[in-house]
Amino acid sequence: MDKLIYLDHNSTTPPDPRVIKAMLPYYTEAWGNASSLHQFGRHAKAGIEEAREIIAGAFNCLPEEIFFTSGGTESDNFAVKGTAYEHRSKGRHIITSKIEHHAILESFAFLEEDGFEATYLPVDKYGFVDPDDLRKAIRSDTILVSIMYANNEVGTIQRMDELAWICAEKGVIFHSDAVQAAGKIPIDLKKTPISLMSTSGHKIYGPKGVGILYVRQGTRIMRWQTGGHHERGLRAGTENVPAIVGYGKAMGLARAEMRENDRKISGMAEEFRRRVLAEIPDVRFNGPENDRIKGTVSLCFKGAEGEAIILNLDMTGIGVTSGSACTSGALEPSHVLTAMGVPPELAQSAIRFSFGKDNDPGDIDYIINSLKAAIEKLRMMSPFYQS
Ligand SMILES: *Cc1c(COP(=O)(O)O)cnc(C)c1O
Repeated sequence: MDKLIYLDHNSTTPPDPRVIKAMLPYYTEAWGNASSLHQFGRHAKAGIEEAREIIAGAFNCLPEEIFFTSGGTESDNFAVKGTAYEHRSKGRHIITSKIEHHAILESFAFLEEDGFEATYLPVDKYGFVDPDDLRKAIRSDTILVSIMYANNEVGTIQRMDELAWICAEKGVIFHSDAVQAAGKIPIDLKKTPISLMSTSGHKIYGPKGVGILYVRQGTRIMRWQTGGHHERGLRAGTENVPAIVGYGKAMGLARAEMRENDRKISGMAEEFRRRVLAEIPDVRFNGPENDRIKGTVSLCFKGAEGEAIILNLDMTGIGVTSGSACTSGALEPSHVLTAMGVPPELAQSAIRFSFGKDNDPGDIDYIINSLKAAIEKLRMMSPFYQS
């Protein structure tokens, strides 16, 4: 076996060589502490501020509204807990959806333990939150709504404008986990009244351990990580300068090459999806045809077990994941697929194929053949599967 094909880009992406090249000088030359007043510090600080401007430009917001963090997980925790504690005197009701990343769901669970009351909005069979459900769920004591931009397991892109406007009209802070959307689809924060937004570097060919929380001007949020006066007093800790610079570079590239990447990735993923559905029997596609991050293809293979499919494909050099990466290893079916009405036994057979810009369209044949062989073999061994 010599072929290696990575189809797990929603878990992480290979850093773009241009990103690494941009980062290197911040390890070897401009390694100063960005808080220092001397030129060593100023040099590092300039790198951070340039990245901040690139990222603000990508989202059509102000550089002052961008706060660097250690990634999507920290940004989600910061947004949810920071908003809840800042505004708890106004109310203790918080709203999210059933299909969020665990960084959101666990933050909500943490707050429920501390006396907050949470509503988890359902989704339809495609993974969409109904804006009317949100409208009805908001109460006078609701202080936060958090709904993800695009889902990491099935790729569903929510009706963000509508959801954000409902919150804006009701005066409720609206956070969105945009980790899977940022850099892949256009996001315009001048048009969409999102109050807070999380993104991450390593999902768009940037480094791991860096992300942002966007905080719209006028939105009050409690400091969550305390210490020094970094990031205008809102997020303490010496900045990870090379990672921030790398993230800025990655975002700049993602923005400049968005259409080209989208065309390439969508083309491969759609061909893959079409062929699997045509060539392998008893396959269910999870998610919407449209309004989806097209590189994300979630499929259930009746009668085959997800973890077994992963291991079989791994033996042929293909890397995929079952359900969400954060729960792989655990045996419960994906909470996202369950919320979409997929029966638990079928959800256990789900595999997420997530394509990226480095994939080769010429590999589709090999992927399909490996997958066919794996599914046939596992179904043959299954006492439950009858074609
Ligand atoms: C990956 C991911 C996160 C976590 O981001 P990290 O930078 O890995 O902490 C949060 N939300 C979604 C939707 C993700 O896909």
